[in-house]
Amino acid sequence: MARPPLSREEFLQEFGPTLHYAPPGGFRTVDDDAALVDTHCCFCGQQCGIRLKVKDNAVVGFEPRYEFPFNKGKLCPKGIKRYLQGSHPDRLLHPMRRTPDGYERVTWDEALSETVSKIREIQAKYGKDSFAMLSGVSLTNEKSYLVGKFARVALQTANLDYNGRLCMVSAGAGNKKAYGIDRASNAWDDIPRAKVIFAIGTNIAECFPITTDYIWRARDAGARLIYADPRMVPMARTADLFLPLRIGSDSALLMGMLHVIIRDGLTDEAFIQAHTVGFDDVRAAVSHATPEWAAEITGVPAEKIELAARWYGEAETGFILHARGLEHQTKGVENVMSCANLALATGKIGREGCGHSTITGQGNGQGGREHGHKCDQLPGNRDITNPEHRRYICDVWGLPEEELPGKGLTAQEILNAIHAGEIKGLLSICFNPLVSLPDANFNREALNKLEHYSVIDFFLSETAEHADIVLPGSLHEEDEGTSTSGEGRVIKINAPVTPPGEARRDWEILLDIAQRLGRGRYFQYGSTQEIFNELRLASRGGTADYSGITWEKVVNNQGVFWPCPQVTERGNTTMHIEELDSVHPGTPRLFEGGQFYFPDGRARFNVVKWRESAEVVDDEYPVWFTTGRVVSQYLSGTQTRRIGPLVDQFPHPKLELHPRLARQLGIQTDDWVTVTSRRGQVTIQANVVNTIRPDTVFMAYHWGGRQSANLLTQRALDPISKIPEFKVSTCQVRLATPEEIVEGENARRLSAVTEKNLPAGYGLNARRQELRR
Ligand code: SF4
Repeated sequence: MARPPLSREEFLQEFGPTLHYAPPGGFRTVDDDAALVDTHCCFCGQQCGIRLKVKDNAVVGFEPRYEFPFNKGKLCPKGIKRYLQGSHPDRLLHPMRRTPDGYERVTWDEALSETVSKIREIQAKYGKDSFAMLSGVSLTNEKSYLVGKFARVALQTANLDYNGRLCMVSAGAGNKKAYGIDRASNAWDDIPRAKVIFAIGTNIAECFPITTDYIWRARDAGARLIYADPRMVPMARTADLFLPLRIGSDSALLMGMLHVIIRDGLTDEAFIQAHTVGFDDVRAAVSHATPEWAAEITGVPAEKIELAARWYGEAETGFILHARGLEHQTKGVENVMSCANLALATGKIGREGCGHSTITGQGNGQGGREHGHKCDQLPGNRDITNPEHRRYICDVWGLPEEELPGKGLTAQEILNAIHAGEIKGLLSICFNPLVSLPDANFNREALNKLEHYSVIDFFLSETAEHADIVLPGSLHEEDEGTSTSGEGRVIKINAPVTPPGEARRDWEILLDIAQRLGRGRYFQYGSTQEIFNELRLASRGGTADYSGITWEKVVNNQGVFWPCPQVTERGNTTMHIEELDSVHPGTPRLFEGGQFYFPDGRARFNVVKWRESAEVVDDEYPVWFTTGRVVSQYLSGTQTRRIGPLVDQFPHPKLELHPRLARQLGIQTDDWVTVTSRRGQVTIQANVVNTIRPDTVFMAYHWGGRQSANLLTQRALDPISKIPEFKVSTCQVRLATPEEIVEGENARRLSAVTEKNLPAGYGLNARRQELRR
């Protein structure tokens, strides 16, 4: 059984998180002999350009990379401190096998042999799909593609999914239903040209800090900013109009706005006639959605809904931006389609200064959702259930069609199936579901039931603590490849250092396992560039067409926007993909001339009907509970909870609540409070703020163990995208008892250790230093 072999305290001492404050050799004012290497930030989907300082095979600092057009040298706190994760004392440096007392060091041959024999044993006993794989979108495009192929061809399982399932899948599904393609509609350069920006369910300043600059530039040019969110997040405090909607009521607000736009004749009838299908049905569906009706549901005054609709509808150009607040719901896809209905009804798409985009959260969240490591997808954003798509990919892979598995389970469904005893084995790479999936107690029980679990990662995350075999993989700066930013810009990731100790590049580990599983003939790559060239071929003709993109073109142009088909001056070619460059320039702005990605070229209106979230407040759980990010931390915190200055900026999660609710409950800032939902309980300190609705509390989700917000959230899924409803739960809040306060303080104490407090010559850390040398 995959139960952690050590106590939390022992894990902390052995594997961290250790707070790391200085690069190898300490800080130096002059580093003349350090090399400078252009690459990108390893964290969020903005993928800012950065120039790493490298010395003695270690990243020791950074310089701004002014030439990269997206961020022009600007970085947020996470980007500035990202270099501190290289040479980190917690870095996994050799393969390990779990023992009853902890972990023992083993050779790569032992670790891989055991992994492969367990895969064989479990699949022989329970069937191929009883062994699942979970992966992450911090991986490059090449690795995402490889994981998709590895799971289907080497593991031969249908059950592969990725942590983008917790991020942008609602946007992806909504985009495809409205526009026929899943990508941000424009390069961000179009944002400053908009006359109105409507941001809904997105904390731009903290989660996507560089996008702030694009919106400021629009506002400098006279644009209005409309902001809808249950919290008055930092950027909302500067908005021209703020709509403090109740969590889970987004589609009602959007229906109300569309009602006003239609009623007041602000639709673009020529655009609707020429470029869309289905408007009459949507018009009928919002005929009852008056501002008063929407006000009743959302809690936003009707006159504000009217004003927002008029400002958006009347403006010559406009841009809609949203993120997880709108998408992390059982109605995530419907919410995205409601935004698309607004953009299409007013013709604000496919031209300068007009667009509708999700702001992608994860590093390679865009590329990671294009090349086949989703359970229902094949490379090029192809559909694994489509016979023609399956045939094409099997041709590229040289795989008999009958050997390609079908659609598998999504991430949360895989955990559900493990809990139910239907999936017995797991291989994961760069995914920390114990912190990032909802209902953490349930997921912990599931992991404890696994018969075998092997993990590829560079730090021992909370989930990896359950592993039987730990395979040390590579950090961002240790392997080259491409990534695709939230704009849809394919960029080059460079590898200025090699993996330390015995750690290996992720793709090499996967190739080794494939070889040992007897499937090596399908994985004959000598470099990641060779994987990329196969990805180009596999994507050719798909909606996410990368066939005209080469690494050289990416470097020479500071990125290339897909779709970029392989087109030569002689027109399309059937020659081998490696032999030809392409004259296609890429596609920064989609849908120009009203051309959408459906066979008839027309966009689709989609009818959305108002419905409630999976859980609503009642007498027992009377307070809405929602979660989100803070600027100095990133997702499940595997990386950022190890970087001292980032932790110092926001050391622990706190419960945000409004003064009115606080007064009602007798709570003041810094009081310890216990928050209970139907799934679990946390005890943390309170932060009383004016910037949240009085009926809602908020908690950041970057921490694990007893500080995990996901102890409280629910496993209800959007029926289409299968994204969990992270943003809408209900809870009780009260002052904590003395015993609970002790538990809360313990949880804090066990969340990190500072390097300087480690005993001299301390066990594994000393051995790690030795290996690094
Ligand atoms: S975390 Fe995101 S916004 Fe911050 S520097 Fe990195 S890529 Fe840029």
